[in-house]
Amino acid sequence: MTDNKTASILLLCTGGTISMSVDPGTGALTPFRFDQLQVQLPELKKFNFSIDFVQFDPLLDSSEVGPAEWVRMAEIIDEAYDRYDGFVVLHGTDTMAYSASALSFLLQNLNKPVVLTGSQLPIGMVRTDGKENLITAIEIAASKDHGLPIVPEVCIFFESTLWRGNRTTKKNAELFNAFGSYNYPPLATAGVHIRYNRTVIHTASNERELILHRLLDANIAILKLFPGISHGYVKAVFDTPGLRAVVLESFGAGNAPSVDWLIKELEQAAAKGIVVVNITQCNTGSVEMGRYKTSVHLMDAGVISGYDITTESAVTKLMFLLGHYQDVAIVRSEFSRSYCGEMTVE
Ligand code: ASP
Repeated sequence: MTDNKTASILLLCTGGTISMSVDPGTGALTPFRFDQLQVQLPELKKFNFSIDFVQFDPLLDSSEVGPAEWVRMAEIIDEAYDRYDGFVVLHGTDTMAYSASALSFLLQNLNKPVVLTGSQLPIGMVRTDGKENLITAIEIAASKDHGLPIVPEVCIFFESTLWRGNRTTKKNAELFNAFGSYNYPPLATAGVHIRYNRTVIHTASNERELILHRLLDANIAILKLFPGISHGYVKAVFDTPGLRAVVLESFGAGNAPSVDWLIKELEQAAAKGIVVVNITQCNTGSVEMGRYKTSVHLMDAGVISGYDITTESAVTKLMFLLGHYQDVAIVRSEFSRSYCGEMTVE
């Protein structure tokens, strides 16, 4: 049974389509005045919650959001942490999965809900999906069971589903169900009732102290393999000045062509201290290095497995680890364990 009669929620608006409304004069999409939210969304008054707002100035399209903004979001949550029961972050959908993943690493020991949501249509439009998303996200952020939050983790609520944030990917630029989580089940589904899938949600514990991290190093690259990929292209990636890690998007269960030049590039990268993580281009399933001959040479060249991690999580986890550790051996071993449910290590 939930007892969410009273709760305090901080709503952090970073921008994105959800923060837009149609200017009645010009018809153009302009940033929504969040101080007018209660007027636009009278439903909010029906909650017996106190809801405070803070917003980025200027509001950002999420294509403009990166490491500095992830740290800002984490700092705002950290600063307000003791005063609120839960946090809702309004965010553009384009890079929401990256931000959710990054926040899951930056907010260590999180014990309160941080629910990211957004919309495909601006909140000020008649058919907006933003209202439902926002209202349900607030309800989830406020939900408690025996005084403890039901979802004490960073998650994304969209359309009717709550996902673990660091397992999500934006999958649809058109339909309202914009996100998928191919290797981890929904944390909750919202229909007539919000049904929580408790067995797959982190367990709340008041014994954990929130630890805010701020260090991220973006000296990484994503290398997506394709049949016929040229040596020159791969070499250019590995020769990137300052490069410290590469997310290698390989085929199927983690396979790559066994041409000599690729093996040499990978060996040279390892010798230079560049960490290479193998993830699959497939939506679902995991890298299984050594299953096929075409991945044995990757292991031999020092490539490590990213198991079933998403690109978004691999990128942000590497930024986080490189920000914290200089020692390549530590980055490799830390990457190989699951920090906050972002991958299934088998
Ligand atoms: N371009 C927008 C953004 O990500 C799209 C959206 O919000 O859906 O900020």
